[in-house]
Amino acid sequence: MNFFHSSFFNTLFNAEVPRIILKADPDFIIFKYNEAYKIATGIQNRPVEGMSLWEAFDNDETGPGIGKLLVEALNKASTNKQAVNMPPISYNIPSPDKKGFVAMWWMLEIIPVLEETGECNYLLVTSIKEELTVTNEELHSANEELNISKLELQRSLDLIRESEERFRTLADGSDILISVGDETSKEIYFNEAWTRLTGRPEVQLLDFGWADLIHPDDKDAFLNLYLTAFKKQVPFTKEFRILNKTGNYGWLLATGRPRYNPDGAFAGYINSCIDVTEQKQDDQRKNDFIGMVSHELKTPLTSLSAYMQILLNKAQKNDDEFTRVALEKANSQIGKMNEMINGFLNVSRLESGKIHIDKKDFDLALLAKETEEDLESTNETHNVIFAPVERTMIYADKDKIGHVISNLISNAFKYSAKGSTIHLACITKDKLAYFSVKDEGMGISKDDIPELFDRYYRVKGDHMHGISGFGIGLYLSSEIIKRHDGTIWAESELGKGSTFIFTLPVLDS
Ligand code: ADP
Repeated sequence: MNFFHSSFFNTLFNAEVPRIILKADPDFIIFKYNEAYKIATGIQNRPVEGMSLWEAFDNDETGPGIGKLLVEALNKASTNKQAVNMPPISYNIPSPDKKGFVAMWWMLEIIPVLEETGECNYLLVTSIKEELTVTNEELHSANEELNISKLELQRSLDLIRESEERFRTLADGSDILISVGDETSKEIYFNEAWTRLTGRPEVQLLDFGWADLIHPDDKDAFLNLYLTAFKKQVPFTKEFRILNKTGNYGWLLATGRPRYNPDGAFAGYINSCIDVTEQKQDDQRKNDFIGMVSHELKTPLTSLSAYMQILLNKAQKNDDEFTRVALEKANSQIGKMNEMINGFLNVSRLESGKIHIDKKDFDLALLAKETEEDLESTNETHNVIFAPVERTMIYADKDKIGHVISNLISNAFKYSAKGSTIHLACITKDKLAYFSVKDEGMGISKDDIPELFDRYYRVKGDHMHGISGFGIGLYLSSEIIKRHDGTIWAESELGKGSTFIFTLPVLDS
C-alpha cells in the first residue's frame, strides 16, 4: 500500500502516541510501529516486524484473558470494518530501576484500514498509556492487606456456615414442616419434619418432588395458588391433603412468605406447614353432628307445621279469632325455626361438598321483581326502595341466588331501625351484574368487615344485644356466590349503615 509511504501518513503515524499496524490475518503479523510504541513497550533493541503479535510479546506479563480480549477486538474491527475502542486493560512490567513494577494501563483504539475495494487488510492500533509506579514496599503492604481481607472473608464464611448450621438444627428439631424455595419456584430445602411425615428423604422432595404427594383433588388448586403467589411475590395460606408414610392422606395448613436477598432481590419463598388433620377430623365430626341433628329436627317440624295448618283452617272456619291469631304467630315461629335448621343443613352440606348447584339461564331482573313483590306483602317495618332493574341474563341457580338476596335483605331489616330506608339495586357494568342492598342501620367497624363472611362469625358488642342469629347467612351467601364465579363484599361505616354487594357474570344477550 503506497499510502503507508506517503509523508502525510508518516507525519500522523510517527506522532508521540504509540501506534502499530497489524496485518488483518489470523496471526496479526506486525507490519509497522512507531518510535513511541518501541519506547512504551520496551522493544527498542528488539525488532519485532514480521512477527505475529503473540510471538513478539510472548514473554510479557499480560494478565490472563487480556490476549483473548484483544483478539476478539481485533477480529471485530476487521470483520465489521468499524473502529473498536477497547476498555482499559492493564499489565505490570519491571520498572527501569528494577525496584518494583510499572503497572501499565492501556486504552487501545483499533481502526480498520480500508482499501478502495472496501477490503480490510491492515489494522491501525493506537495505545494510550498510563503509568503507575509501585515500589516493592507498597506491593508488600498491598499483599498484606489482601491477606487480611482473605482472613476476614474466611471468618465471614465461617459465620455464615455457623448460622446455617444453627438454622438447620432449629428447623430439623421443629414439628413444623419447613421448606425453602428458590427464585425459580423450585424447593431447595426441606427440614426433617417433612421426612418424618412423608417417609421420603429430602432428595426425593426437592424441586417439585413434594408435589407428587398432594391429593389429586387438591393438587391443581394448590399449585395454582402457589405459582400465582410466586409470580406476584405475595404471601399465601392454603390447606391441602398430603400422602403420609402410612399411606393415608393428612391435612396440612401451608403458609408461604417471599424472602429477599440483602440487596433486595427476590430470592424465593420460605414455607411452613402445620398438620391440621386432627382439627379437620374434629370439624368433620362436628359437621356430621350438625347435619344429623338438623335432619332429625326437620321431620317433626314438618309434621308440626302440617298440624298447625289444619288447626288454622279449623279456627278460621269456627270464626275463632283469638286461636287464629295465636296459631298464625306460632306458625311464623315455626317458619323461623325451619329457616335456621335449613341454614345448618346447608352449612353441613357445603362442608361435606354435597351442596348441589343447579345452573340455568334466567333473568336476574325477574328475580328482583319477585323479591320486590314478596317484600310488598310482608314488609311492615321499613321503607324499601327498589331501583328499576333492566333485563340481566345470568347462568345461575335461581333458588340459591334468591337465598343470597333474601339473606342480605333480612340482615338489612335485622340490623337497622324500624322506619329507616333500605335501597335495592341491580346494575350491569363490564359484563358483571352488581346487586346491592343498602341500609341505614348500625353499620360495621372496619376490623369486623374482613371476617363477616367466615362461618359462625357474628360481630360482638352491646348494639348486637337481643338480635339473634348464628353467623351462617353471610358464610353461605359467599360460598354460593363463589360457586358462581362472583364476588361478595361489604362497604360500611359504624353507625352510618352498610351496603352489601355481590357480582355475577352476565351472559351475552
Ligand atoms: P347472623 O345475622 O345470623 O348473625 P350473618 O352471617 O347473616 O349471620 O351475618 C354475620 C354478622 O354480620 C352478623 O352477626 C352481624 O354482626 C353482621 N351483619 C350482617 N349484615 C349486617 C348489616 N346489614 N348491618 C350490620 N351488621 C351486619
